[in-house]
Amino acid sequence: MKSYRAAGALVLGSLLGAAGAQAITISYDYSYDTGGFYTSHPEAVTAMNAAAEVFNRFLDDLEPIEPSGPNTWKMNFTHPGTGAVQWVDNPVVPADTLVVFVGGRNLSGGLLAEGGPGGWSAYGTSDWLETVQYRGETGASLPQPTDFGPWGGTISFDTGTDWNFSVDSDPAPGQADFLSTAIHELGHVLGFGTADSWDAYVSGANFTGPVSTVVYGSSVPLSMDRAHWAGGTMGTVGGSLQVAAMTPIIMLGTRLLFTDLDYAGMADIGWESPPPGDANADGVVDGLDYNSWSCNYLATPVPPASEGGWNFGNFNEDDTVDGLDYNVWSLNYDPEGQRAPLPEPAMLAALAAGSLALLRRRRA
Ligand SMILES: [Zn+2]
Repeated sequence: MKSYRAAGALVLGSLLGAAGAQAITISYDYSYDTGGFYTSHPEAVTAMNAAAEVFNRFLDDLEPIEPSGPNTWKMNFTHPGTGAVQWVDNPVVPADTLVVFVGGRNLSGGLLAEGGPGGWSAYGTSDWLETVQYRGETGASLPQPTDFGPWGGTISFDTGTDWNFSVDSDPAPGQADFLSTAIHELGHVLGFGTADSWDAYVSGANFTGPVSTVVYGSSVPLSMDRAHWAGGTMGTVGGSLQVAAMTPIIMLGTRLLFTDLDYAGMADIGWESPPPGDANADGVVDGLDYNSWSCNYLATPVPPASEGGWNFGNFNEDDTVDGLDYNVWSLNYDPEGQRAPLPEPAMLAALAAGSLALLRRRRA
């Protein structure tokens, strides 16, 4: 078993106050795990946290949802333990935080998991209704939306699957990879295949988002449900080709990490990614990020960048903080301290309703 040093995170904790933008936080709520999936598999929590790191570096500023006086709301979501619709009255969602209800139940039809953003109803001032729906992501309120600001959502995992819960080891033949599945479902919660700003770029059987189009080299083919890349679509992770994480099927015995193409899809939905070398995800590659690198220099093992290692100064896909990572920092170092997130989408297309998308497995 590998254990990851926390030194970088501790150093960052004392320095973040001086930084500008702050990354989002995915906050899991296990209280609806009525079937006891996470109690039976406590190691799944570690994998859930590793999956959150894929998205916890997005720089978007999400307004808090704080009901008071005439402003009330209810969230609704699929109860992860039963599959029924669950309503919660007047919860508080902190700034920059997405609440994700997680649990397990027996999913039929070969499903590994299902997930998506939650719904809501609200009463109050027009400002309040906009906060509940868009959380300050102004592009999300356009007639043809370019951004997404959900309160969070829900994920349920199949209890009848032979899961590999390890973060460090790939699944054995015949096993389904929990980390890969958690990453995939979080992608849906954050709008992949489910947000109006996703639908805005669906044109026939292709996705025409400008960032994705640049990464892929053309518009990207979609699966039949128009909520995933087409089966077998390739991206890269750490310079190596891999089937993209947001394809409809994860083969048993296979781990799918988030590729550059998957991140490009998130950028087209409206999520802002920090540049490579930005260890503290404040949007600027600067001396604070150098500190993270130097504090963890030659620390081993640390996670690869695609599993959150960037936070430790590990900007590539090995398990060591070394000179290669310094090169990434130095190539992206910005002495002016300007924020340099990925570009916001500029093209607009038709608007359609969101949907809950499912992930299927295929026996290898
Ligand atoms: Zn899916």
